[in-house]
Amino acid sequence: MRLSRYFLPVLKENPSEAQIASHRLMLRAGMIKQESAGIYAWLPLGYKVLRRLAQIVHEEQERAGHIPLLMPTLQSADLWRESGRYDAYGPEMLRFKDRHDREMLYGPTNEEMITDIFRTYVSSYKDLPVTLYQIQWKFRDEIRPRFGVMRGREFYMKDGYNFDLTREDALHAYNRHMVSYLRTYERMGLTAIPMRADSGPIGGDNTHEFLVLAQTGESEVFYDARVPELKLGERAVDYDDREQVAGICKEFTTLYARTDETHDVKVFEDQVPEEHRRVGRGIEVGQIFYFGTKYSEAMGAVVTTPDGRKVPVEMGSHGIGVSRLIGALIEANHDEKGIIWPEGVTPFHVGIVNLKQGDSATDAACDSIHAALVAAGLDPLYDDRDERAGSKFATMDLIGLPWRITVGPRGLANNVVELTSRRTGKSEEMSAAAAVARIK
Ligand code: ATP
Ligand code: MG
Ligand code: MG
Ligand code: MG
Repeated sequence: MRLSRYFLPVLKENPSEAQIASHRLMLRAGMIKQESAGIYAWLPLGYKVLRRLAQIVHEEQERAGHIPLLMPTLQSADLWRESGRYDAYGPEMLRFKDRHDREMLYGPTNEEMITDIFRTYVSSYKDLPVTLYQIQWKFRDEIRPRFGVMRGREFYMKDGYNFDLTREDALHAYNRHMVSYLRTYERMGLTAIPMRADSGPIGGDNTHEFLVLAQTGESEVFYDARVPELKLGERAVDYDDREQVAGICKEFTTLYARTDETHDVKVFEDQVPEEHRRVGRGIEVGQIFYFGTKYSEAMGAVVTTPDGRKVPVEMGSHGIGVSRLIGALIEANHDEKGIIWPEGVTPFHVGIVNLKQGDSATDAACDSIHAALVAAGLDPLYDDRDERAGSKFATMDLIGLPWRITVGPRGLANNVVELTSRRTGKSEEMSAAAAVARIK
């Protein structure tokens, strides 16, 4: 992509409405534009990152055997009356009527609708287990939308739902979600800690939240310092192997890690040696629930068992805050100059800066580097504008691409370009071919 043909409306000034770094940087880097309180247009650069994250979420969910589908954002109030949540949900639910005076709502979550889909088609244990998920916009009329996409009103969420015959099967589904979430966050370059949490309006008794440690997080967290060191790494996971999956969950949830809602000072002090005790703040980027038959019973989602009985199906629901993750990623990866994208989620893999636009040899070298990067399957952003070098560097630093290739007549005279790492700030001179080969 040539920057002269792209749409990247960067801001020079710090927007006054932004209180935290990620919000400020997303506005300045031209990633989002607020349209109403907590409602954002995703400009091309922000949309690119959003799609990258969604892609990772899809890949890891499908790897775990979960099946994507897409439900509408608008739902009928009647469905929510069946579960009793239409009245219980309160003012966070956006409600309205259509022209025929039918009560509708913009879905804040989808337990009712997915249960309705399930009961329409499935009536036998033979069709179990099944786990369905979507990535779709949600709306919650948050009382205090703030911090940009971190607490929006309209936000993009992955929500998955498992349907199983037995509690044991449903707990395996719960564990599968935990492991697939750990892998998802790790691929994004994030450490998200599963913490014992409170179930809130979804209901149920088995639940973990995933928290990214950050000073600007809204939750207070209490944990053993050894927990954030745990890594899934490259180990092979067989999602059908119950023992292996349960073993990984145990590994990640045995040491103390809880949010303020479930924190117990006595247990904390008994279990965690003083030198390992940590109190901090975190951003909730996901949550998994096992809630058994809460919705299936209320809504009549029953299946026949092998011995001919009819039982309500065992369920759980599992969410990842895809749009919030962008805020969390930037909170964890930035400096005073701008964003520093981890390689797994960067909107472009590398930026090319032409130091002398209009100089035919420099232009030709940039074009050929651009072509070589594209041929290598990479997505470069070439700053081909007629701008000062300082301004081009500032834009690249702000939008945070992991690598920058700087091309100018002086280097070309010695057959070198400069390759700079955004994270370390270190530059190295090398041939154009070597620079292309270094970028992953
Ligand atoms: P919070 O405690 O921050 O209000 P929640 O517990 O109400 O979040 P869940 O119902 O668990 O949210 O939804 C799953 C995920 O969706 C959350 O873990 C979070 O990452 C994301 N999410 C929830 N509310 C918002 C929001 N208003 N804006 C952006 N993302 C959100
Ligand atoms: Mg909430
Ligand atoms: Mg919460
Ligand atoms: Mg939650």
